[in-house]
Amino acid sequence: MRIVCVGGGPAGLYFAVSTKLRNPAHDVTVIERDPPGATYGWGVVYWDNLLDVFFRNDPPSARRIRSQSTLWQEQRISVAGAGAAYLAGYGFSMQRAVLLDILARRAIELGVRISYRQEVDDPSSYADADLVVAADGANSRVRQGGGNPFGTRVTTGRNPYIWLGTDRFFDTFAFDFERTPAGWIWCHAYPSSAGLSTCIVECTGRTWEGLGFDERGDADTLRELEKIFAEPLDGHGLISQCRGRTARWQRFTEISNERWYHDNVVLLGDAAHTTHFTLGSGTALAIVDAVMLAQILDDNDDDLPAALQSFDARGRLALRPVQAAARTSMTWFEQADRHLDQVGDRVRDRDGDVQGGDVESSRDGDRGAVSFAYAMAGRHGPQPPWRYRVHRATQVPAVRRAMRGLHTGGRWCLARRRGEPAPARPERPERAAR
Ligand SMILES: Cc1cc2nc3c(=O)[nH]c(=O)nc-3n(C[C@H](O)[C@H](O)[C@H](O)COP(=O)(O)OP(=O)(O)OC[C@H]3O[C@@H](n4cnc5c(N)ncnc54)[C@H](O)[C@@H]3O)c2cc1C
Repeated sequence: MRIVCVGGGPAGLYFAVSTKLRNPAHDVTVIERDPPGATYGWGVVYWDNLLDVFFRNDPPSARRIRSQSTLWQEQRISVAGAGAAYLAGYGFSMQRAVLLDILARRAIELGVRISYRQEVDDPSSYADADLVVAADGANSRVRQGGGNPFGTRVTTGRNPYIWLGTDRFFDTFAFDFERTPAGWIWCHAYPSSAGLSTCIVECTGRTWEGLGFDERGDADTLRELEKIFAEPLDGHGLISQCRGRTARWQRFTEISNERWYHDNVVLLGDAAHTTHFTLGSGTALAIVDAVMLAQILDDNDDDLPAALQSFDARGRLALRPVQAAARTSMTWFEQADRHLDQVGDRVRDRDGDVQGGDVESSRDGDRGAVSFAYAMAGRHGPQPPWRYRVHRATQVPAVRRAMRGLHTGGRWCLARRRGEPAPARPERPERAAR
């Protein structure tokens, strides 16, 4: 089968790898508009479920991905002067550019052709291919060609955000909420690779305008953000340049499609669906799509229409709950000011002035952060009452240490089951931060 894959992001590259693994006779070309190594964005987070998929599907690239990933433990949520709270758990993160490099090398090893610096303007020029895979991201040009055959719906989120890097290395996943005279602004930061971290800054449109970000240039924007987040950044700088591209403020674009295929064109990854970045699952979903399509094609070797129909039905069904959760998460953050005001009414602003109410003790502040963190963690729906007790217990350093120990043991078992080159014995649980 002759397959043309438009877009060399995670979806396009991993589909090329997965389909070549299943049928080396397929003629697969990936067309990517950027040169090798150029990519937007910093690090991406992911969890054990994605490692499971990687190791089941292609152990050689999975081992490389795991070895280039950083493990982070717990989420630390701090609310301007109101102390910090912790959410238990762990995850992994890695540089998006490193991930793409590993996938591209693996695709080439398997005989895939990658044509860089070639922008697809007119998808109909590939009509003679048996299958055209539109893996060209949320703004997919392939999807937009010729009316609206996929029934695409585009919704734009309300909050501006900017995807930055920093040379402050966060060894955990950190959320920091700061109060400014114009309103609340927050960042999500997590390790990307040795010495660098990802830092996504978000706020409401009102705060964004109030802080003058609609008029500031790049350098001025960074300076202002470094000032606002001076405490979590610990004096380090923010970086807006990533592989030759300057980060810009954007609003999240939610993409959904009524159908994921039309004639011989199939949508994959962000071209088919996007999920808000506060869920941290877009890359994982793109990878799952890629494996699913490759497997279904292999199962239906001579019947492309049946394969595409099956992919469409299974893919959309699996996505529905995830996209609903992502929407809830996005909306929660669009209304975060309301929750934050409840905590912040009792909190000093960053200049040391009291923003209404009495100066509270740091215990009260911590309590505010703990409640806020609980509300944030429960943004997807009602929680059973015992969850709050567990959450309170998680704030105790000794309990966090014990949980880390449990997670370390669990990770060791999972690594063995997956066939990862696991350490000879479980790592010693590290001391929990504060
Ligand atoms: C701020 C932010 C943070 C995120 N954080 C995470 C995270 O922590 N974890 C996670 O799992 N996901 C995260 N995501 C989501 C993740 O980045 C995407 O879901 C994922 O990259 C989708 O992969 P894709 O291959 O479908 O599309 P993309 O990664 O967008 O790749 C599309 C590729 O197609 C190329 N292309 C586009 N048009 C053309 C054309 N006309 N011709 C040729 N090539 C073309 C592009 O150059 C690009 O290389 C985040 C997203 C955002 C916005």
